[in-house]
Amino acid sequence: MLDLIIIGAGPAGITAAVYAARKKMNLLVITNDIGGQTAWSGDIENYTGYQFVSGPELVAKFEEHLRKYDITLKENEPVIELIKRGDVIFVKTDKGSYEAKAVIIASGKRSKELGVPGEKEFKNKGLTYCATCDGPLFAGKDVAVIGGGNSALDAALQLMKIAKSVYIVNVASGITGDAIMLEKLANNGNVSILNNSRVIAVSGKKFVNSIRINSGQEEKEVPVEGIFVEIGLIPNSGFVKDIKKNGLGEIEVDNYNRTGVPGIFAAGDVTDVPEKQIIIAAGEGAKATLGAFRYLSKIR
Ligand SMILES: Cc1cc2nc3c(=O)[nH]c(=O)nc-3n(C[C@H](O)[C@H](O)[C@H](O)COP(=O)(O)OP(=O)(O)OC[C@H]3O[C@@H](n4cnc5c(N)ncnc54)[C@H](O)[C@@H]3O)c2cc1C
Repeated sequence: MLDLIIIGAGPAGITAAVYAARKKMNLLVITNDIGGQTAWSGDIENYTGYQFVSGPELVAKFEEHLRKYDITLKENEPVIELIKRGDVIFVKTDKGSYEAKAVIIASGKRSKELGVPGEKEFKNKGLTYCATCDGPLFAGKDVAVIGGGNSALDAALQLMKIAKSVYIVNVASGITGDAIMLEKLANNGNVSILNNSRVIAVSGKKFVNSIRINSGQEEKEVPVEGIFVEIGLIPNSGFVKDIKKNGLGEIEVDNYNRTGVPGIFAAGDVTDVPEKQIIIAAGEGAKATLGAFRYLSKIR
């Protein structure tokens, strides 16, 4: 029986794992990938100690730190169920089942889908949810970023250096992302912002060749070869049952990262902690392990 299972290897899960390894806990990390959303970030300018670092570079640093310890890591293994019976917590994945005395859920968030005709058909055929991962494939092409918050601006900032032109298609009347990002975009001639505009369909033959936009009075077809969907995120908490969540599906935790179920902790973007940032998720991961350590010391 393991002391601790950590679900997820984004900033929260990796930091939790580093803290647990240093406490010599008998530990397993189960995750879909390493890095989580940080791997999708372009320029990061708010992680203390780095005035500037790209998402993939920071993830490489996190992973190097994680692998310094002898931690068992199961990658590409999504958790599908979490149950507590007596003092034992069972974590079921698509490949097996594991048991531990304590668990930290650090499964973060994933991109929301548009839910329009053509989205599923053209997924990875011109339509993507990750500008950092897929942006370079669209060099010299016309592309659209859907959204108006920081994720959309981050994507547009990356794409304006690569693509021929970038449309930002925003359903609201104005951009809600940070002013400093908007300023950088405004200074670039190949970016156009379409406010009050809703995407209603994605079209193409083998690959995307246009999006249909409704702007209130009129509908129009905008020719683009790439579509980057950046309309927000939803928590990866579907496998978590019988634990209190808020209306957004985020797991409710207290100051010690405890859920309502003794031995089950949660950290980072999957929780109701205000503000979703790398440094906050990392700090929450550290707190969750220290909380789990305290819990284990009592039940031993
Ligand atoms: C485009 C973009 C740009 C951003 N830029 C910045 C920035 O500049 N500065 C900043 O501070 N923050 C930024 N953020 C926010 C930041 O990336 C997140 O707040 C942070 O990554 C959250 O960390 P996390 O570990 O809680 O979750 P995540 O990073 O979401 O990691 C979750 C982990 O859980 C795994 N997982 C998910 N479901 C399961 C499952 N069922 N079973 C097993 N494993 C699972 C995933 O594979 C992943 O490893 C940005 C986010 C985006 C999307």
